[in-house]
Amino acid sequence: MDNPAQPRNFQTIVTHADADVDDLSNIAPSIHPTTTFLARDALDFAAMATEPRHPRYYTRYGNPTHQRVEETLARLEGAEAALVTGSGMGAITATMLALVTGGDHIVAQQNHYMGTTKLLSELLPRFGVTATFVDQTNPAAFAEAIQDNTRLLMLESPVNPLLHLTDLKAVADLAKGRGVLTVVDNTFATPINQRPLEFGVDVVVHSATKYLGGHHDLTAGVVAGSKALVERIWGTHILVGSVLSAFDAWLLLRGLRTLPLRVRQHNQTALAVATFLANQPGVEKVHYPGLAAHPQHELARLQMPAGCGGVLSFQIKGGYQETQQFMSQLKLINQAVSLGGYETLAAHVAAMWAGTLTDEQFRAAGVEPNLVRFSTGLEDASDIIADLAQALATMG
Ligand SMILES: *Cc1c(COP(=O)(O)O)cnc(C)c1O
Repeated sequence: MDNPAQPRNFQTIVTHADADVDDLSNIAPSIHPTTTFLARDALDFAAMATEPRHPRYYTRYGNPTHQRVEETLARLEGAEAALVTGSGMGAITATMLALVTGGDHIVAQQNHYMGTTKLLSELLPRFGVTATFVDQTNPAAFAEAIQDNTRLLMLESPVNPLLHLTDLKAVADLAKGRGVLTVVDNTFATPINQRPLEFGVDVVVHSATKYLGGHHDLTAGVVAGSKALVERIWGTHILVGSVLSAFDAWLLLRGLRTLPLRVRQHNQTALAVATFLANQPGVEKVHYPGLAAHPQHELARLQMPAGCGGVLSFQIKGGYQETQQFMSQLKLINQAVSLGGYETLAAHVAAMWAGTLTDEQFRAAGVEPNLVRFSTGLEDASDIIADLAQALATMG
């Protein structure tokens, strides 16, 4: 792109991409907390009512504050269009319901965000949509699972909680040859580290609740892809009704202003923390694609050239009890679900999922009772490491 008004540099995109959308006289964007918009005249009303994704008709259909953040997100993902939703699950559900119909088949991964797994294994089957779950680390497994009625491949990379990767180019290539659409959940990587559309994937979805928002203060989702696909998904989204509030759209845009800076720091700090943990006798194993010892490190370098993101996981030497003991010794680092914010959060995975997964599902997900998921925040790396070191020192 030679046009200097269309910069490709991430930090320039998040600073300027929304500028042409609305209220040009403002530097800080306006918030439009209105459900409906006045038409200038009868002709204008007729146009507003019929144009898809009109930003000033009815807020469930679109809103100027949404439009500004959508413009920025589309540019970050290198997409023709983007759509914001009220949550990541809102984005994923609208995408699935738009792209498949009763009798269709989906190939998905054995590991996904839990809500996605439940959508594919419990909700969609009630409407006659079936899914096969394959080992994401083996592209051939996707090819083998494709049936005559397969319409969609659902991908997610890196994935919770063991940070397995999917070879997005390999899987997108085999889908294209068969006329099957590919969707990837890009939440963990963010567009700063990984741009799935460049690998031939059709649709990117996000939980913007995580890194895109970045401050643990909003719930939102994103869909990005070609104009035609995003418009099709929008048609379902307005029926699903997972609408982002204008205030949260504004907060999301504010979060995006610093996304490249934050992700760069998350990449560095997570690598430092993972390297530290890998050398501790009290730690059995560390899972982080940025470590040379990760089985998919080479793929990580090709697919996420800028870095591997802020999430890692590790196993404490011992079992459930020892892990509980370790967690209870953390002082600076707080325990909570979710990830991607400015503050480091740790979660004992077996405790987090005890109410939702059976023992069999735990084994299938590869989750050991001593696994800790770690979302590295923006505190100084040395302070995070010092807290981990003092907690490990109490373990004896
Ligand atoms: C959190 C998350 C979701 C769901 O997003 P919500 O905003 O909580 O609805 C989907 N995918 C991934 C990878 C997530 O981490």
